[in-house]
This record gives sequence, C-alpha cells and structure tokens, in this order.
Amino acid sequence: MVTPRPSTDQVWAWLDAVPDPEIPVISVVDLGIVRDVEWGDDELQITVTPTYSGCPATSVIALDIQTALAEHGIENVSLKTQIAPPWTTDWLSDKGKARLKDYGIAAPNSAKGPECCPHCGSKDTERVSQFGSTPCKAQWRCLSCLEPFDYFKCI
Ligand SMILES: [Zn+2]
Repeated sequence: MVTPRPSTDQVWAWLDAVPDPEIPVISVVDLGIVRDVEWGDDELQITVTPTYSGCPATSVIALDIQTALAEHGIENVSLKTQIAPPWTTDWLSDKGKARLKDYGIAAPNSAKGPECCPHCGSKDTERVSQFGSTPCKAQWRCLSCLEPFDYFKCI
C-alpha cells in the first residue's frame, strides 16, 4: 500500500500556515525564505534561505516546518539551507508586506530605511535605534504622529 504523496502545491499551502517565529503575522512563505519544495525518492526536500546568517530564528523555523509537515503526515523531510543567493527583502510577498504594515512594522524597501510610517503613512521618520525588539528590526519613530515603530531591516 503506497500512501499518495501530497502535491508540492499542497505542501506550499501548508508551509504558508507556518508563522515566522519573530513576526507571527507573516508566514515563512510570505517571508520568502522557503525557496524550493521538491519530492526526492522517499523524502520531501525543502530549501530554506535564512534571512541573514546567524539569525537565531533560523533553527526555530526549521523545527516549525518539520513539525507542521509531520502534522500532515510527512515525516521524512530533508531541509537544505541555501545561503547563495542571499535572502533579500525583495523576496517578501506582497501579502507579507501588507501584513507587516497592519502589524505596525514598516516593510523594508531599501537599505536606506522605511518608506513611510506604518501608522499614518508619513514619510517623515527618523531612526531611534539600530536594534529593535529583535536583531532583525530597528527602532524608528514617526515625526508626524510621533508613534514609534519597528523597521524590518533584515537585508
Ligand atoms: Zn506616523
């Protein structure tokens, strides 16, 4: 008796339900770190690119992916870490960027800084601190509504 394999499309959909450990409003797929899903001979091969080398969330993400797939009956998962090409914020999905904004985190657009305040949309912002609540984020402040916000700076 051979158990039918779920399609890779199905696996992508399941992975889209795995939240990023640091920013739970977006999934690891929205974040753009899942690069490839492929069936090998008897295992599911998933290629993951960490947001930056040494990001402490990377091992958590690997475990979360394996746990989520095990819940769907896929036990044999081989996770491959691919560091080239490096992750860039361009890999964030539009859905992910919209969710970041809803969450009050300025979505990254360039190395220069946030495009606008996630609260009021003002472009008049300043950096408060290089480090926010996690190493991936910087603390910024809006000069229009005076609200502080995190800028997701993983690049
Ligand atoms: Zn503002």
